[in-house]
Amino acid sequence: MNIVHAFLNRARSHPHLAAVTCSGQTLSFGELATRCHALAAYMVQDMQLAEGSRVVICMENRAAFFETLFASWIAGLSAVPVNAKLHPKEVRQITGDCGAALVFASDHLLSGLQPVLADMPQAVPLVSVDDDAYHAMLRHSPMPCKDMQADNLAWLFYTSGTTGVPKGAMLTHRNLLGMSLHYGADIDYVMAGDTMLHLAPLSHGAGQYSLPHIFNGGHQVIEKSFSPELLLDGLQRYPRVSLFAAPTMITRALRAAEGLRNAGGNLQTLVYGGAPMYVSDLLKTLEVFGPRLVQIYGQGESPMTITQLSRQDHQGNGDAAHLARLASCGVARSAVQVKVVDDEGRELPLGEPGEIITRSDTRMLGYWNNPKATASAIRDGWLWTGDIGSFNELGYLTLRDRSKDMIIRGGSNIYPREIEEVLLRHAAVAEVSVIGAESADLGEEPVAFVVLKHGMSVTQQELDTLCLDNLARFKRPREYFFLEDLPKNNYGKILKTVLRQQLRRSN
Ligand code: AMP
Repeated sequence: MNIVHAFLNRARSHPHLAAVTCSGQTLSFGELATRCHALAAYMVQDMQLAEGSRVVICMENRAAFFETLFASWIAGLSAVPVNAKLHPKEVRQITGDCGAALVFASDHLLSGLQPVLADMPQAVPLVSVDDDAYHAMLRHSPMPCKDMQADNLAWLFYTSGTTGVPKGAMLTHRNLLGMSLHYGADIDYVMAGDTMLHLAPLSHGAGQYSLPHIFNGGHQVIEKSFSPELLLDGLQRYPRVSLFAAPTMITRALRAAEGLRNAGGNLQTLVYGGAPMYVSDLLKTLEVFGPRLVQIYGQGESPMTITQLSRQDHQGNGDAAHLARLASCGVARSAVQVKVVDDEGRELPLGEPGEIITRSDTRMLGYWNNPKATASAIRDGWLWTGDIGSFNELGYLTLRDRSKDMIIRGGSNIYPREIEEVLLRHAAVAEVSVIGAESADLGEEPVAFVVLKHGMSVTQQELDTLCLDNLARFKRPREYFFLEDLPKNNYGKILKTVLRQQLRRSN
C-alpha cells in the first residue's frame, strides 16, 4: 500500500483538473503526475537512491513541494519535509540525523545550506528546485509507482523534543492514510474542484491536510507565506475554499476583516488547531466567518488526528454548555481511542486532569533512530502526548496545560531548551531560563531570564546576535531580563512557574 496511489488514482480519473496553483501558474493533475513519475525515475535510475532512502524537502511553499513529495513516494523513498524558516545549522542537524540521501531546496535557501551541508562527514547532494537541471529531471522518462508496505516510512516529521534536539516522528503510509480517511469521516467531504488555500508552511499541518484534499480532486492554491489580506482575498476569489490555520492567523484575519461585508466569501471549512484558541476569539470568528469552523487537536506523532470539535459543536446559543464546548478541543476522532490517565497509565475519573494518551492507525511508528524516546512515548501501543487534559461526561476533552514547556508562537512551536543552550554558549552567561510571554498578536513569544557570571556584562544586542547566528529568526527572545538568581526548588530545578508569575506581575 503506497499512499501516493490516492493521488495517482485521481490523476487518472481527472487528468485535466487543476491540481496546484502557485505564483499564477497552474499544474493539472495529469501534468503533476507526469512530473512526479519522471522525477522518481531520475532519483532511482540516475541517482541510484535505494528504497527507503530519506529525501529532505526544504523550501518555502511552492508547487515543487508536491512534485518532490509525491515523486519520493512513487520511487519508494521517504520524504523529510523541513520548515524553510529553520536556521541552516538546524537543517543540517536534521539532514545528518535522518541520514538523508538527497536534499531538495529552493534557490533562496541554497546559499545558506551549501556551506553547512558541504561540511558534513558524508556529502549529501543538494538540488535546487529553481534550476534548469531540476526542470530536466521533470522531463526524465517515467517509472511506475513502487509498491510499499503499510508500515514503511512515508513522512519523517521532525518535531522538537523537551531536550531541544529535534526528534523525527516516523509517519508510515498507514498513518497518512488513517489521517486522510479521518478528514473525510469527521471534517469534510471534499469534491473535485474544491479549493484548499495554503498560507501556512506545507512542511507542517497544512501540507499534511493537503493530502486528503488533493486525493479527492481538490485544487491546492499556494501562497508563499501568510498575510490576512491574502486569506480574505482567497476566500472571495476561489470556489468552496478550505484552509488550515493556526489560531493567531485567524485573529489577524479577523482584525483585517473589520468593516468588510461577507468576509467569509466562499469559505467552506476553516480548520484550526495546533495551539489554544480562546473562546472570545472563537465567538468573533463564528460571527465573521459563519458556522464553518472545525477545531482539531493532534500532534506530529499522531498527525492532525486525536480529537475534533465539529462545525455543529461550534453552534449554540451562548449558554454555559455551549461556551464549555467552545473551550474544549472536542471529542475523539472516529476511529481513535483517547484516554486521560495518571502517571501509571490508570484512567482518571471525569473532570480530573491527567496526561492524554491515544491509540489509532494514525499513531506514529516511533522516533527515528531513537529507541529510548520511542519507548517513553509509546507504551503498550498508546502514545503519551505530553499534554494535560480532562474529559467531561459527554466525552469532550479540554486541554488544561502542556506538560512540556513548549512555547507556541503564532502556531510555530518553540522549545525553550534550544534557546537556553544557545544563550549559555556566551562566556558571560551563567544561567538562563526561557519561558513564553503572552502576546496579543502571536499568542506567545519567548522571553529570556539571564543570570550573568560575576563581574561580567553583556548587551541585549550581543545575545540577540548569538541567537540569530544559531537559531531560526522566529525563535529569538522578544526580551531579556537580567536577574541575580533564578528561582529553584530543593532539587536545584529552575521553577518556570515562578518566572511566569513574576512576568505577569511586571506586566
Ligand atoms: P505539533 O507536534 O507541532 O503539531 O504540536 C502539537 C502540540 O500542539 C500538541 O501536543 C498540543 O500541545 C498543541 N495543540 C495541538 N492542537 C491543539 C489545540 N486544538 N488546542 C490547543 N493546543 C493544541
